[in-house]
Amino acid sequence: MIHEIEPHRYDPEYRKRPAGDEDIALIYSGKAGIFTAYKDGNYCLPTIKDIRGFANEEMSEMEISELMDGCYFLFMIDNTGYYQIELPERMNNVVSFVKTTDEVPLPKDLYKGKYIYMSIHRFRELNPVSMVFAGATGFHIRNWKETVRYCGCCGAPTKPSETERAFVCTECGYTAYPQVAPAVIVAVTNKDKDKILLVRNLRRPKNVRLELVSGYVEVGESFEHAVHREVLEEVGLHVKNLRIYKDQPWGISGAHMVGYVAEVDGDDNVVRQEDEISEAKWYSRDEIPEYRNRLSVGSEMILKFKEGKL
Ligand SMILES: [Zn+2]
Repeated sequence: MIHEIEPHRYDPEYRKRPAGDEDIALIYSGKAGIFTAYKDGNYCLPTIKDIRGFANEEMSEMEISELMDGCYFLFMIDNTGYYQIELPERMNNVVSFVKTTDEVPLPKDLYKGKYIYMSIHRFRELNPVSMVFAGATGFHIRNWKETVRYCGCCGAPTKPSETERAFVCTECGYTAYPQVAPAVIVAVTNKDKDKILLVRNLRRPKNVRLELVSGYVEVGESFEHAVHREVLEEVGLHVKNLRIYKDQPWGISGAHMVGYVAEVDGDDNVVRQEDEISEAKWYSRDEIPEYRNRLSVGSEMILKFKEGKL
């Protein structure tokens, strides 16, 4: 799964630490793209030094100095710091953007053979997983930062806290912390445990793989309650014998997923929620399509079921 990056070690502790040349720069464009470098035939994240080189070609000295002053510490992986950097908007026109549905680009599409914006969903197909985890986790923090530029209480500008990952209002002192949205995802099996329920969300593109039932936990609700409610809402089934499989951070959507396994309770006739689910069907092990990776707890549960190990 995305956060299983051993032998590397993720350290989220916030620290005041200047960015060094070999640290990693995470840059996102407004279209959910991530600035990706192409080196020695592989896509990777650029270093701070790479970004300095890129900036030297495109930006004035004053702009570069502002850019570097604006490096925002995100986290460490092993001894490498990860920093979010905001490129000026006009850079989005200099560097091409690869959409989720595009084929992996050829080097000729890259900015001077070196850089490209890649959609975050395309980026997640890359290796190693520690890089994908860094890109997704930085994306989560950056998306939160975008929402706290101004105070939610009084509307005054905020500034980064000196001591913790937070933004503090310059007028009233209100402190905004990152938000993680808890969600449940559930592998529902039939009575004989030889079939699993897979669904397709109406709002997702047709080429997206089938998924498990999932949804956000409501205010005041337990995780188990959310499982019962989501399954009933989306496919009209009652479930029993719930057990937690694993949990997982999912920075791409700012969620934290808790994976459950559950068994249908009573009637297994699916009644799909028409305004949310376009397809919902029981799949035997042989009928389950292949999944490209086990990055998400959902795909891991589906594949484990297919292998008879869930
Ligand atoms: Zn305020």
